Amino acid sequence: MTIAIIAHDGKKAEMVQFLNEHETILHSKSVKLIATGTTGEKATRAGFEVMPYLSGPLGGDAQIASDVAEKKVDMVIFFRDPLAKHPHEPDISMLMRLCDVHNVPLATNPATAELLLKGL
Ligand code: PGA
Repeated sequence: MTIAIIAHDGKKAEMVQFLNEHETILHSKSVKLIATGTTGEKATRAGFEVMPYLSGPLGGDAQIASDVAEKKVDMVIFFRDPLAKHPHEPDISMLMRLCDVHNVPLATNPATAELLLKGL
């Protein structure tokens, strides 16, 4: 099972906390984590094995969106910062749109992400 993790700058601390709170399941051999660049760095520093893509503003969201379209991703955990502006807003919309097109579970906040992981 491949899980993509992405967190905007204002949500990165929350993402690391979420990962730590769910480390048992996220460290399991059956889970592979992929991430946008900076989110991936933070997760790696927290002790998780993550395959890093480009940083979000440089195309990382678009890379993950491409994987979603190719059915290579089973779940997306995307902690968006709704209070900040993002230069790569089109990529963010594309990623969320493709999750809906391909019926891939998408959590945009910790409460929803928690329910998704409980559903595994
Ligand atoms: P980042 O990208 O993990 O490289 O910061 C996230 C984003 O802004 O979409």
